[in-house]
Amino acid sequence: MNEALQRGRAEALLVTHMPNVRYLTGFTGSAGVLLAGTRPVFWTDGRYGEQARREVKGARVVVAKGPAITAALQHAASCGVQRLGFEAEHVTVAQRKSLSPHLGGVRMVETSGIVEGLRCVKDSDEIARIRAAIDLASRCFKPLLRVMRPGVAESDVAAHLEFTARKGGASAMSFETIVAGGARSALPHGVASRAPLPARGFVVLDYGVILDGYCSDMTRTVHMGRASREFKALYEAVLEAQLAAISAVRPGVSAGDVDAAARNTLQQSKLAKYFTHSTGHGVGLEIHEIPRIGAKQQTALEPGMVITIEPGIYIPGRCGIRIEDMVLVTATGCEVLTPVSKELIEI
Ligand code: ZN
Ligand code: ZN
Repeated sequence: MNEALQRGRAEALLVTHMPNVRYLTGFTGSAGVLLAGTRPVFWTDGRYGEQARREVKGARVVVAKGPAITAALQHAASCGVQRLGFEAEHVTVAQRKSLSPHLGGVRMVETSGIVEGLRCVKDSDEIARIRAAIDLASRCFKPLLRVMRPGVAESDVAAHLEFTARKGGASAMSFETIVAGGARSALPHGVASRAPLPARGFVVLDYGVILDGYCSDMTRTVHMGRASREFKALYEAVLEAQLAAISAVRPGVSAGDVDAAARNTLQQSKLAKYFTHSTGHGVGLEIHEIPRIGAKQQTALEPGMVITIEPGIYIPGRCGIRIEDMVLVTATGCEVLTPVSKELIEI
């Protein structure tokens, strides 16, 4: 952390992005500010005083009388901090302006991705939590198939899934559940609508749960009724691309090379033009973290990174297919964490 601060040319960092606060202190509440540096201090308001004293590790806890951020600035000034980093990606222009009157002699320095850079490699405790989230989401998959019949609304399928997930202990879904049937499967972000499931066609199911603070993310594409030979071939092409990308995952390989493995495989069947997004992303306390597994991304994979591998194809007006697993980068290669079969299921 201190090394990262020096690179950002700051003596201390004002951490305001709550997942970063949680990562550094363990605080799970929704309001608070951490001044990270040689003597970390955490400010929250009266609602969270007790919780903060119970949860926060590695920082002194102070219940601020006014806004926590003002208290943090005053403290930084009184400690003689001259260059105070702030998380430029998570502070609005209006928030930045509102700080000006409280700066004293402190100069605010824009920083980017300092805590995120620490978060992208997970420790064993985090990996255990991620595994638990993935296992819960995976257990919800089979029961989900049982409610899928032609005519059932996508939103009913999502509701059933989310009920099962909450019953299993999820605090929330990682993002808005995607259930996209028939021609809607061609929408990469087809959030469950009132549309009925088709009698015949693909349905993309993309969802995740949050358990113990950590997110999961998986996609399976199933087929209502018997799939045509053409649709089966499309599905196999996406699966082949997904497996090719997984085989490319190992320490030292660039994220761009993993993306290329998926894209080049799809290109062999002239389908790469329908693959319109990145191959994957990091997952942890947030659903989208670094590294981004996209074209030309230079980031080298490291053991402990947890990423998704999710190539897909989207043929407008016809169909879409995506297959997504979560994968842990290990010392020698990778481990696929998502235990659900990828054989095409016909319902
Ligand atoms: Zn997903
Ligand atoms: Zn994803």
